[in-house]
Amino acid sequence: MFNKRTRIKELLQAGQAVNEVTVMGWVRSFRNNQFIALNDGSTNHNIQVVAELGLLDDATIKRITTGASLKVIGAVVESLGKGQKLEIKAKTVEILGDSDGEKYPLQPKKHSLEFLREIAHLRMRTNTFGAVFRVRHSLAFATHKFFNDKGFVYLHTPIISASDAEGAGEMFRVTTLPLNDAPKNDDGSINFKEDFFGKSTNLTVSGQLEGELGAMAFSDVYTFGPTFRAENSNTTRHLAEFWMIEPEVAFNDLEDNMNLAESYMKYLIQYVMDNNREDIDFLDQRLAEEEKQLPQDKRNELGLIEKLNFVLENAFERITYTEAISILLESNHYKKKKFKYDVAWGIDLQSEHERYLVEKHFKKPVIVTGYPKQIKAFYMRQNDDGKTVAAMDILAPGIGEIVGGSQREERLHLLEERMKEMHIPADEMSWYLDTRRFGTVPHAGFGLGFERMVQFVAGMTNIRDVIAFARTPGNCEF
Ligand code: ATP
Ligand code: MN
Repeated sequence: MFNKRTRIKELLQAGQAVNEVTVMGWVRSFRNNQFIALNDGSTNHNIQVVAELGLLDDATIKRITTGASLKVIGAVVESLGKGQKLEIKAKTVEILGDSDGEKYPLQPKKHSLEFLREIAHLRMRTNTFGAVFRVRHSLAFATHKFFNDKGFVYLHTPIISASDAEGAGEMFRVTTLPLNDAPKNDDGSINFKEDFFGKSTNLTVSGQLEGELGAMAFSDVYTFGPTFRAENSNTTRHLAEFWMIEPEVAFNDLEDNMNLAESYMKYLIQYVMDNNREDIDFLDQRLAEEEKQLPQDKRNELGLIEKLNFVLENAFERITYTEAISILLESNHYKKKKFKYDVAWGIDLQSEHERYLVEKHFKKPVIVTGYPKQIKAFYMRQNDDGKTVAAMDILAPGIGEIVGGSQREERLHLLEERMKEMHIPADEMSWYLDTRRFGTVPHAGFGLGFERMVQFVAGMTNIRDVIAFARTPGNCEF
């Protein structure tokens, strides 16, 4: 009866002696042929299993190695040893699966994150990744709870898409045509009419356009799904496959949109503080230790928990793009030519600019609005100045852009004009334009990069360490 087992987390939380329990898990360490630290992933805390001398024969003792899986039946008793309140006095220890201690890559010592990335299939069994992925789970759950409680409808938008108008990034092609013998048109180009869908298709870069269709029916929708970008950017913030949450709300303007995004982010942080405190405490200490390795000027002023509390307690700074450019131009950093990329009205803010604004100038999350229309997508609502659009990006300390959103252009003629200027074929986008033809309303939405949020909350520097199996240029293991 395997399902009779008690989770180690529940056992430790209950904090009481019990006559008999069954626990199952993996050996983290084994000392003095008696003390087994057993972990089942429900918490970073192990339960100490004491196998009194004489209980197990030598052959069994030899098989209790790091990584081996055990079923233990015993009594929960108060521990006499230091370091734990309770322990299990074993009555039986059954080995479910052996693990060759010599070959098992996870030794009871500190491994670098880089090394653990190479063994991502096993790294979830470490304390760091145990904490990260339980926090990630909670953030996903809290996302659904937040939007559900607000009456939003969760819309599943397609993964395979034929629209190439989003312009959010390079796309992965989806095809069943033979690579070396693709059917050709008379002009030598590939004839996608013979492809699986009868047209050229790709993996989606965003569910927004379909989200807008949903918002025009349900008023409030959100998507939460995988998105794909074949951008060759080897950074600590970019993945080729990542998850995005995209709310889209009819009757919202830009300010409503900012309010929604800010309250959503704060809700996520609060949820994890309330429900994952043990893991957050662990990650807080982990980060503090990591920072000790850094030179003084590279360290964060706030620890992880201090940072999260600070974000909860303070309103995000709201500035316009034009103000952001002035701040950058007036900064000593700029005057001392410390930015790699030049600053002028009209530029796309580079990561170094975003980080200066949030980390050096404001020292808190910043919402930047009113970007030049040239650097933003066709669907963003044009402002009366003729130069800017009702866009908003949220920039977070240590991460940079975490949210990108806008009020959408609901006026058909202006949208069509903009599409023409940007050479977006209106006939292929007729379905999208129908929302503006039949009962158009002001509406707004945003996309939050889920992994960037996990990074922010878990205090992890590299985005590859907050998704179970990262897909990045040149890397598709596991
Ligand atoms: P960036 O400038 O950082 O590349 P973007 O402007 O391309 O971001 P959007 O197209 O606005 O981003 O996407 C919405 C959100 O999705 C971003 O704010 C970010 O949180 C996240 N995001 C975008 N690209 C990636 C990626 N390659 N990997 C992980 N998250 C991403
Ligand atoms: Mn990008």
